Amino acid sequence: MTREEKQTQLAQIAQKIQGCKNCPLWQGSTNGVPGEGDPDARIMFIGEGPGFNEDRLGRPFVGQAGKLLDRLLDTISVRRQNVFIANVVKHRPPANRDPLPDEITACGQYLDEQINIIAPKIIVTLGRFSMNKFFPGEYISRTHGLARYVNFADRKIIVIPMYHPAAALRNGAVMLQLQGDFQKIPTLLGEVSRLSEKTEVLNNEQLSLSL
Ligand code: SF4
Repeated sequence: MTREEKQTQLAQIAQKIQGCKNCPLWQGSTNGVPGEGDPDARIMFIGEGPGFNEDRLGRPFVGQAGKLLDRLLDTISVRRQNVFIANVVKHRPPANRDPLPDEITACGQYLDEQINIIAPKIIVTLGRFSMNKFFPGEYISRTHGLARYVNFADRKIIVIPMYHPAAALRNGAVMLQLQGDFQKIPTLLGEVSRLSEKTEVLNNEQLSLSL
């Protein structure tokens, strides 16, 4: 798929989200927040749901958590416009409550379509809800920073769970862990580049990172 075709399809999804009533979350929100970024991004970040600022502007990660995400990207010399940022639910849950399982399920089709179109090499999940999309039942305190291959729609993608930046803003220890986990991303990008030069079939299910 060309970049232009990807852009067109992502715009169609964004339009569908603006008119979606598949779960109750649209009722209390100002804007749908489909996500944004490079249609050819090698890295995709998936958070939980829009907050107050995101709902107001219709853009993901634009509040304090977004500013932290920007600073973390700076530390690894990755530009925000070169990644794609999305959430598991596209409308703001009331009073920033956790998204409910039915809401995540109802909204899942949009995220799945975005992943299929963008075809990222690496997905960074931010928070437990996006982590549980790929690793159901796991605990973020145990698996953050652990990169693994996941089969998604016949494609192997490296998925690495991390804490949500909002959690890091509330807890200094979590901040240190998030900062440390971010430093693994350049190694994963190197791994992706190395493997893309090979034609071998990947058999390893877990990456061993010695950072
Ligand atoms: S959160 Fe998702 S499923 Fe619910 S109304 Fe918004 S776009 Fe539709």
